Amino acid sequence: MSQDSPRPLAEIASYHAHVYFDGPAERQHAEWLRQHIAERFRVRLGNWHDRQVGPHDKAMYQVSFATGIFGALVPWLMLNHGGLSILVHPNTSNPKRDHLVDPIWIGRPLAVHGDVLPDDHEAEEALEPNTEPSLPA
Ligand code: ZN
Repeated sequence: MSQDSPRPLAEIASYHAHVYFDGPAERQHAEWLRQHIAERFRVRLGNWHDRQVGPHDKAMYQVSFATGIFGALVPWLMLNHGGLSILVHPNTSNPKRDHLVDPIWIGRPLAVHGDVLPDDHEAEEALEPNTEPSLPA
C-alpha cells in the first residue's frame, strides 16, 4: 500500500465532526460547544441524537463542514472539547474507511461500529450551512 501513489486531497469532499456525550454533564457541555460553534463557524449543525445511531457508540450530533473550515474548526475543538470525545472524519467515496481507518479523534477514542457503513458510496459534499457566525474563533 505504501508503494502506491499517495491519495490526493481531492478525494475529500467534506468533513464531519461527531460530538459525543453521555449523561447530563456531558450533554450540557455539548450544548455549550454547539452554541459557540454556531457563533464562530459556517457549518451545518445536525440533529441531536440522544440514542445511538448508525456506526456511533454514544449519543451525539454531527457537524458537517467544508474542507476550507478544517484549519480553524478542528484546532478550536482541540482547545474546547472539555473532555468530550469528538470524531473528525473525511468524506470520500469510502465511508467505512473514512470512519474506521482514516479519522482523527479529539479526546478519548470510542468504538465505531463500521460494519453498518458501505465501502463504496458517492462522497458527501458539505451540507448547506445553518449557522450565521458573527464572532472570531
Ligand atoms: Zn459522519
